[in-house]
Amino acid sequence: MTLLERTTRLAHAWLDSLPSRRVGPAADFDAMQAAFDVPLPEAGEDPERIISELAAAAEPGLMGSAGPRFFGFVMGGTLPAGLAADWLVTSWDQVASSTTMSPASMAIEGTAARWALDLLGLPADASVGFVTGATAGNTVGLAAARHHVLGEVGWDVEADGLVGAPPVRVLAGDEVHVSVLSALRIVGLGERRIVRVPVDGNGAMRGDALAAALREGGGPTIVCAQAGNVNTGAVDPLEEIVEAAREHGAWVHVDGAFGLWAAASPSLAPLVRGAAEADSWAVDAHKWLNAPYDCALAVVGRPEAHRAAMGVTAPYLAGGPEHNMVSYVPEMSRRARGVPVYAALRSLGRAGVADLVEGCCAHARRLAAAMDAEPGVEVLNDVVLNQVLLRFSGDDEVTRAVVAGVQAGGDAWLGGTVWQGRAAVRVSVSNWQTTEADMDRLAGALRRAHAAAAAPAPAPAPQAAS
Ligand SMILES: *Cc1c(COP(=O)(O)O)cnc(C)c1O
Repeated sequence: MTLLERTTRLAHAWLDSLPSRRVGPAADFDAMQAAFDVPLPEAGEDPERIISELAAAAEPGLMGSAGPRFFGFVMGGTLPAGLAADWLVTSWDQVASSTTMSPASMAIEGTAARWALDLLGLPADASVGFVTGATAGNTVGLAAARHHVLGEVGWDVEADGLVGAPPVRVLAGDEVHVSVLSALRIVGLGERRIVRVPVDGNGAMRGDALAAALREGGGPTIVCAQAGNVNTGAVDPLEEIVEAAREHGAWVHVDGAFGLWAAASPSLAPLVRGAAEADSWAVDAHKWLNAPYDCALAVVGRPEAHRAAMGVTAPYLAGGPEHNMVSYVPEMSRRARGVPVYAALRSLGRAGVADLVEGCCAHARRLAAAMDAEPGVEVLNDVVLNQVLLRFSGDDEVTRAVVAGVQAGGDAWLGGTVWQGRAAVRVSVSNWQTTEADMDRLAGALRRAHAAAAAPAPAPAPQAAS
């Protein structure tokens, strides 16, 4: 058997095990370190042996996050077509930066971008960079924003930097994702200067509060909106936000890591109405689209701002910059991570993407209804998308014990969070493989963990008479 054939078998064994295996890792980091912390070999070893041993040793320390009963954070699995395309990308080993170095990669990624813009309801003439994740997407979008708002007041930030530049005002909802804060740090706008805009009970920015905050200042302004709160799934009122921002000449960036995919469903699209009128967007492909890690889209409605912020020129980069991916991403050498997006979208079609998104939301509602009917269980959020927040016995400790109980049980995996100052169990349904039966199994695991956590502590052993 060749090395790659053997590897294919190992991959199959892993993938086939996902629906039935324990979801959480059986071994912890210490055990994995003990298994892998060995000296660098002096002489090279046989690749087949390396791969076999690697797979066997790693298996207990792998998280079944690509499987159907992983509900932690917001993570997707991998559609077969995307996974297979990713293997091809690795085998092709292209430097997917320009039309000179890989005409095929640039053409395929161009089509994947066009299809994604169509599904997301974003402007067809927007520019797209395939980046590693929404964090990178937010960074690219905010770099383009910085270029544009400072350019409007006559400052060339790419040439002159931020030292001595007119101040840039940044407004974001109180529930802004940490990755936007990180992106703002990277592009030199800082975290502390952000004007925080109050949110509603589900974590969506209040449009009236944004309008009021905008009136309180002036100058170059960037508004960071969100489509899909990581806890509740809440979507900021984008139509209202864009309208208020326009009045002040502000740039609107939308962190739509997972939530922007609602646009691909006719029934959910009204939630993200107004998104197309924003100026830049970050959208993950590795979360709700179920493309393999790592992959996201950095989309900018003003391609010239995108290229000004990200582009490079070098004599060896022939061809128009508009077709070269290097113009839209922070990297020069890169893998063609948009190719799996092409394959994933082609395997689903427009109807399949809508079904995937709607199916996850229906599963989330099913779980919320089951839990709502359960004594002592509270659904904390308005389940607008694929996220459900649960609280058990109205108690932080019991709620955290439910998270630990479900993780230890192995039937499913989910995490805890804090919502409005109270501990909560967070359930995210983002996997293409998840079925109603999986949701019912999760409900069972939650009930068992709750019963165990809420049971009165065993009575202390009677004291011996002294
Ligand atoms: C997951 C997430 C991010 C970060 O995305 P990565 O792909 O992990 O970089 C940003 N914003 C929101 C709302 C998210 O859910």
